[in-house]
Amino acid sequence: MSTTPKPVILLIIDTLMSTPLEEAVQTGHAPALQYLMERGRYFPHVVSSFPTMSVTIESTLLTGEYADKHHLPALIWYHEDEKRMVNYGTGVKEIIKTGFSSFVKDMFFELNSVHLSKQVKTIHEELAERNLPSASINAFVYRGNTIQQIHLPRILRLMTGFNGTWDIQAPPLWSLGSFAKFNPFTRTPQIFSGNYKAGCKELKYLIKRNKLPPFTMCVIQDLDLRIHLKGPMDLKGIQKIDRELQKLFNLYSSWEKALKECTWIVLSDNGHASMGNNKHHYVINLRKILKDFAVMNDNMPVPYKDQIALAVNQRMVFVYCLGNGAEKNHILSSLKKDKRIDIIAWQEKGLNHVVSGEKDGRFSFSEGGPFQDQYEQTWTVSGDEKLLDIKVKNNNIHYGDYPDALARLSSSLTSHKGNYFVVTAKPGYEFKEKGSPLHVGGAAHGSLHKQESLVPMIVAGTEVYPKYERIIDFKPWILSLIQ
Ligand SMILES: [Zn+2]
Repeated sequence: MSTTPKPVILLIIDTLMSTPLEEAVQTGHAPALQYLMERGRYFPHVVSSFPTMSVTIESTLLTGEYADKHHLPALIWYHEDEKRMVNYGTGVKEIIKTGFSSFVKDMFFELNSVHLSKQVKTIHEELAERNLPSASINAFVYRGNTIQQIHLPRILRLMTGFNGTWDIQAPPLWSLGSFAKFNPFTRTPQIFSGNYKAGCKELKYLIKRNKLPPFTMCVIQDLDLRIHLKGPMDLKGIQKIDRELQKLFNLYSSWEKALKECTWIVLSDNGHASMGNNKHHYVINLRKILKDFAVMNDNMPVPYKDQIALAVNQRMVFVYCLGNGAEKNHILSSLKKDKRIDIIAWQEKGLNHVVSGEKDGRFSFSEGGPFQDQYEQTWTVSGDEKLLDIKVKNNNIHYGDYPDALARLSSSLTSHKGNYFVVTAKPGYEFKEKGSPLHVGGAAHGSLHKQESLVPMIVAGTEVYPKYERIIDFKPWILSLIQ
C-alpha cells in the first residue's frame, strides 16, 4: 500500500440545500453532483452549528467544537473587554456603522489570529503537526502552522490606512480572493473572496500540477448571495457550480478516476428560511421593542449612558445588557411581548433558561444528568419542553424542529464574555438593527430552526463515514481519512 494518503477535497457550497439540490439532480441540471451522489453516499440532513452563520460553522468544522470552545460567536458580536462591536462582514451599511477599518482588521487578521481560541486546533494545524501539508481556498477560517503574509490590495490600504501586510498563520497552501492566490491568472472580481469560478480555478491549478495535498478545503460563497435575493428554490446557482465541478472531474482521464484518486466531500454550511414579503410585519425592529432603553448607536457604547447593544445575525440576535440602569428582567419582559420572537435564552449561574415571545412557559437545562440525547450527550432538564420542541421519553431526549438544540444553544450562551440574551425569530421573520441587511421576500438564516440547521452532504471515494451526521463530528472523521 502506498504511504501517501489519498487526498481529501472538501468542497463547501455555502447555502446548498437538500430540496433544491435533489430537484437539480432529478431534472438533469447537476450531472457532476448527481455522479457523486450515485457513486457515493448522500446525507440530506447534516446538523450545522449555531448561530447558522458561515464563520461560526467553518470554525466548528475545522476545530470539531461548537462556539463555547472555538469562541467565534457569530458574524457580528460585542467584545466586552474591548467595548466594541466585532463585525466580520454583515453588509455595507452596517460595516460603515461599525467601522470599515476595524472590519478589515477583524476579518483578515483578528478572526484567525486572535478571536479563534488557541485552546482548539484546526484540521490544518493537526495535519501540520503530522508533517502533512494542507490547502485552504476562499475560506475565512483557515488557521494553520505556516507563516504567510496577507497583502491588502491598494484600494483597501487607501481606505483603511493600514500599511498593507500582516503576518498570519495559515496552511502551507493558502488562497483567499485577491489577497493570496496560487495561480497568477486567477481573476477575482470580488475583493474579499474569490467567486465560484475563481475557487474552482485555484483547485484546478493544484490538481493539474499534481500539487493536491492530503487535505484541501475550498469554499464557494456565491450561492448564498443568490439565495438571499431569489429565495431557497433557485436552481441556476447550483447548475453553474456543477459546471465548474464537471471541469474539475474532466481533468482526470475519467470521472471514475477522479473518485479513485481523491475522496470528494461536498458539504453545505447552512440552509435558509424564506422571508415574508411585508416588511412591516416580517422585519422585527428591535429598537421599537426595546424603546425603553438607550441602545448603542455606533461601534462603541457611550459611557454611563448606553444600556443595550444589539448584534443582529439575520434571524438571530445577541441582546447585550450593558448596565447603566438597565435590568435584565426588564429587557426580558420587553422581548417576550413580541409574538414573532421564537426563542429567548440566557444563562444564570450555570443554568440555561428558555422562554418565548410566541409560547408561554419556561424551560431550563444544564449539561450532565439523567437524560441522554441521540449524540450520547447527557442533560438535566426541567419545565416546558415544548419551547425547544423536545420530547423526553424513558430518559431519552428526542429533538424536533431544533436539531441538537441543547448543545447548540448552550454553546452560544457561553461563546463569549458578556451579559446577554440569545434570541431567534420564527421562520419567515428576521431582526433589524440600524444598518443591518434585510432580506424581505428573499431568504435569511442564523436561527436554531431546522430550516437553516439541516444541510446536505455528499461523500464519494471512501466507504468511511462520520460517527454522527453533525458538522461538529467531522474533524475526527476527516483526519481518519488521511491516516
Ligand atoms: Zn448568508
